[in-house]
Amino acid sequence: METPNVVLVVLDCVRLKNLRWGDGPLKARTPNLDRLAREGIAFDHAIAPANWTVPSHASMLTGLYPHEHGVTSTRRGLSPSVPTLAQELTRLGYDTALFTEQSHLARSSALNAGYATVRATLPPLASAPSPVGANSAESASTRFAHSKVVRRLLDLVPVAGLPLAALIQLHRSRLKRQFSPDSLIRQAVEWVRTRRPDRPYHLLANFVDAHEPYAFGPMLDGGVGLRELIALLPAWYVLTVPGVRRIVSAAALERGYVAGIEAADRKLGQLVDAIDDSPGSDRTLIVVTSDHGQQFGEWGNFYHAGGVTDAVARVPLVVRSPRIDRSGVIDHRWTSVRQVHNWCLPNRGATVPAETEWPELNAPQLERADPVWCEGSPAWEVSSGFASAPREELWNRRLIASYLGDQKWVLDVATGRVWRSTERSLSWNEPALLCDVGAARWAVQSIFPPFAESSMDAVAGEAIDHPPALNPGQTLTSWGY
Ligand SMILES: [Zn+2]
Repeated sequence: METPNVVLVVLDCVRLKNLRWGDGPLKARTPNLDRLAREGIAFDHAIAPANWTVPSHASMLTGLYPHEHGVTSTRRGLSPSVPTLAQELTRLGYDTALFTEQSHLARSSALNAGYATVRATLPPLASAPSPVGANSAESASTRFAHSKVVRRLLDLVPVAGLPLAALIQLHRSRLKRQFSPDSLIRQAVEWVRTRRPDRPYHLLANFVDAHEPYAFGPMLDGGVGLRELIALLPAWYVLTVPGVRRIVSAAALERGYVAGIEAADRKLGQLVDAIDDSPGSDRTLIVVTSDHGQQFGEWGNFYHAGGVTDAVARVPLVVRSPRIDRSGVIDHRWTSVRQVHNWCLPNRGATVPAETEWPELNAPQLERADPVWCEGSPAWEVSSGFASAPREELWNRRLIASYLGDQKWVLDVATGRVWRSTERSLSWNEPALLCDVGAARWAVQSIFPPFAESSMDAVAGEAIDHPPALNPGQTLTSWGY
């Protein structure tokens, strides 16, 4: 077969739970992802390598887990001995391009290394004090939203709704959003349409429609005029105000999230249509996945970069390959998303999942020899403080999840505590604390060998029933975040 084109699409923050393969009651309509699954393979037990963007993307681009590649912040680079997917494909003669709405990919030299073309269109995200690449209109909007009086009034909503409304009306023209959600997909489509047919290409696209903040204003229950007020302010900013967080329900946020997933799926459809209309579509590999999921109160967690619940660890993974002739197959094995790196390399003999690597593609729940990990970091401030789901410190301390056979294990590296699922984790039950110290020691050594050294001291002789208070700073430092 001719050298394949390689397309990797990351639908940032999209979790399995709200898709057709998940167990959530609220399902997003994703006709384009579903279509790719019908024409290829869907992995319904795919695990994100990390619980947030940067380490997880670095895993996809290198095939390594975060504790192996060490890219745990935008400031950290890769070792020169570790080539990225784009660098390897460039050496094979590929034309390469990165299209991203995610600022981390635009900023991190480890993530955008090797891409000949880099296009970034960046919306303001959750907690950003000032939007990246802000133009003057956005800056004015930011200054107004951050002014003491506006923040104070917001903190007092809904009782302060009237004066806030008056103030916002006065400044309405300054609050226009400049971000055009279709800008990046238009550029990506144009790039695909202008490829030379005689040269293979690799395209990485990241869409952030499902990333917080969400257009939750229209979803709010009650509060006279409150929806209209909040809709006028940048959502990323509004959601950092404690007064607003107290009145926003997890259900309202999740409805906004599902709308975001559907928006991301529409972009996926535009891209796939462009690919299918261009020369070489019959030799184009398309991999669609996510870097991590999202949490809306599951075990007290909000958003991502905190906890390793199934809500944040389990993500979609769909592969449409010119080499796959068994379309519509669903693979039920635990599969790390880091593997897409190998699948995307034609010289590894696996334009993916090739027969040699996946001999029993139809075998359900085939137990893998190695555990599949999601390496987490503790929660950060923006993921707490929602009154609709009181935070549980225990879950926010859990750092490494291991999926193996019908078990899910969780290790808190800072204390050496271990949790194990008491029922089949395939049914989405989260693990319970393993109280036996001896069993915990065994689990650390056998289930989490790369992390044993840093956690065994903590296991030795420590009482397990009174975990220390959460200290995110200390834990983050210990993890190099
Ligand atoms: Zn992300």
